[in-house]
Amino acid sequence: MTSGELAQHLSAYVSYLRDLGVYDLYHRPDPKVCSPDLLSDSSVRSRQAKDFARASAADSLDATTVRVASPAIADYPATSAGFSPQMAKPPSFDSLAPLPALVVPNANRLAALESVRAEIGDCTRCPLAYAGRKTIVFGDGNPSARLMFVGEGPGADEDGTGIPFVGKAGQLLNNMIAAMGLKREDVYIANIVKCRPPGNRTPEFVEATTCSQFLVKQIDIVHPEVIVALGATAATYLLGVKQSLASLRGQWHSVRGAKVAVTYHPAFLLRDPRQKAEAWKDLQRVMAEMRLVAPKR
Ligand code: URA
Repeated sequence: MTSGELAQHLSAYVSYLRDLGVYDLYHRPDPKVCSPDLLSDSSVRSRQAKDFARASAADSLDATTVRVASPAIADYPATSAGFSPQMAKPPSFDSLAPLPALVVPNANRLAALESVRAEIGDCTRCPLAYAGRKTIVFGDGNPSARLMFVGEGPGADEDGTGIPFVGKAGQLLNNMIAAMGLKREDVYIANIVKCRPPGNRTPEFVEATTCSQFLVKQIDIVHPEVIVALGATAATYLLGVKQSLASLRGQWHSVRGAKVAVTYHPAFLLRDPRQKAEAWKDLQRVMAEMRLVAPKR
């Protein structure tokens, strides 16, 4: 590379950093900056990424290190390599870490979940930390549940309380659980992302894949027999597939040793109650698998 080309390269690099909101530059070897591709295609993503990069750079000792959604998975051998929003398919939860050799004993599950919560801390690993999140919504329910529900991400009510599925969609989920002959306290409930996406939009790829490492651990600790994926986002990230909900419903999938059923998200059912009968069919298959009996009316 000629010195002219190098100067051109450096100048493009500096304006890229300025674009991200990083102004205080000084020389340090090996700057680590994520690929500009990661920040490209939607204005929402680039605005959030700019906020995130600004905040990350501000609290970083090294102003040339811009941490964009670090997967932070060093202690859990996940395959973070190859993350990119352009990827057609996210990595499945099975590919993120080997299955644990031992099941956590019932008596230790609460403490194990608490340690995952402690590890998350006041998380700033992805742009959602800077997008108006009030509370990290970790998960709720029985640490030894046979049945786990996974939704998309917290809404305003959940962000306010720190508990998943407490708003209108949560009330419907409670009814669905009761119709299965269970109580909410019997099951475990979590989401693909633990922080509220602004305006309740669908989580971005980098947000979901950054958060996955913790849900993987929650699943491994709770060790449910069956997981119900509520809606397309939950199904996409748990299974690592990009398929229509219709094509995923009505069959058993497998994630981290649990059987996975896919059904409609309760928020969708609130918008289109005609689909409740279809969702009930999905839940009946789960009940048959788990030998659950519907309560008498
Ligand atoms: N929708 C979700 O997907 N999760 C919640 O916790 C609430 C609403």
